Amino acid sequence: MKVLFAASEVAPLIKTGGLADVAGSLPASLHALGVDVRLVLPAYPEAVAKLAQAREVTTLSVGPDGTPVHLLAAHMGDANLPVYLVDHSASFDRAGNPYVAPGGSDWADNADRFALFCRVITEMGMGRAGLDWQPDVVHCNDWQTGLAPALLYHEGKNRPRTLFTIHNLSYQGFFSNEVYSHLKLPWDLWHFEGLEFHGGFSFIKGGIAYSDCISTVSPTYATEILSGKGGYGLEGLLIKRRDRLIGIVNGVDYQTWNPAEDPLITQRYDASTFELKARNKTALQRRLGLEAGDDSLLFGHIGRMVHQKGVDLILDMLPQLMAGKNAQLAILGSGDAGLETRVKEAARRYPGRVGASIGYDESLSHLIEAGCDAFLMPSRFEPCGLNQMYSLRYGTVPIVHRVGGLADTVVDATPANMLTGKATGFTFEHADVQALWYAVQKA
Ligand code: ADP
Repeated sequence: MKVLFAASEVAPLIKTGGLADVAGSLPASLHALGVDVRLVLPAYPEAVAKLAQAREVTTLSVGPDGTPVHLLAAHMGDANLPVYLVDHSASFDRAGNPYVAPGGSDWADNADRFALFCRVITEMGMGRAGLDWQPDVVHCNDWQTGLAPALLYHEGKNRPRTLFTIHNLSYQGFFSNEVYSHLKLPWDLWHFEGLEFHGGFSFIKGGIAYSDCISTVSPTYATEILSGKGGYGLEGLLIKRRDRLIGIVNGVDYQTWNPAEDPLITQRYDASTFELKARNKTALQRRLGLEAGDDSLLFGHIGRMVHQKGVDLILDMLPQLMAGKNAQLAILGSGDAGLETRVKEAARRYPGRVGASIGYDESLSHLIEAGCDAFLMPSRFEPCGLNQMYSLRYGTVPIVHRVGGLADTVVDATPANMLTGKATGFTFEHADVQALWYAVQKA
């Protein structure tokens, strides 16, 4: 089977969140199973720099204006996975975050950039990219690729089958009617059950309305998005298409996330040498300026600092947590300026007890997983979540809000689950400080 896997971020080339982890590991796993899978992503400078051998293989003209776009080809990782980079300098040749400008607002031309990406995916899907290759299946991921299933559907004959995976329904790629005109998208896709959404149009709706199959990243999230609370206005369409919808928990790449072989941690360990884990705790304490000592209970948190992830709940719990003598907290993340400020203030207020690093830091994220005793994920909603699964692998007890993928992957330490040896962490029912604090006290 031939599969084109399209994503707007792919680890380790470029990453802002879990989509990149999955886009980096799932195609490699399929490739190892003998599937002819090829990746396509935008040619951000960071990604191109990491694929030094990338060479231009073809030039396409896409869209009604025939915009010229180059495709660079390379191979990635141990699996030698074929990768194509969509090289259109006006769209992608800019440093920094793929979606957000330095000030924190979305790049003003995101609709143009990702519509162009979708048009290239469509050309590749139709076998018209000059590669002498047409996929049987095009697998699109999240809103940045959502127009591609719609455009492929619009092609009609000889199109590949399409699969659309929702990694997070709250990011939809919503733009105005004027933008739709400007992009010269087909008007027969502009209707209530098509791309149109509340007077504008939505990229993600293209993936949901027109794909042959829809998946999302956990079974519980697949049911949550069918409700008003989790569906963001798309629950009606999702209910209509539920026979095409399936929830599958993300996998974890144990080549990257394995404490027995992790080059980014201070001391490697596994279940049989578990006592060695403590050396990572010492290293983490030193790195974040926390008081040294193994008698403390060290909690960790890593994530994008946005309302979804509930870092504010952790901060609101600090007076209670810090009233106890031996709790410590290590936080890594970046995002919302207000939340970043609050995290920095907490580190100043509790010196030696709260350590924070604002920014994106791959190696520190591994050390936090290895060095902490417990890991906090009070996400208000969580389609899958990866850090709780990394925590399980690193013997770092996850404490999670029981929603989405967190509910599917962490088994609460109730007396019954403890007795039968099934418990793997602590879960709590409501995303509020009291519930989180209760679970933390239990832990
Ligand atoms: P989301 O995709 O919503 O951000 P996930 O839990 O699915 O959340 O995936 C987040 C991924 O990004 C994890 O691999 C996590 O370790 C990583 N990550 C998030 N923030 C940072 C950061 N500041 N530094 C390093 N890694 C981070």
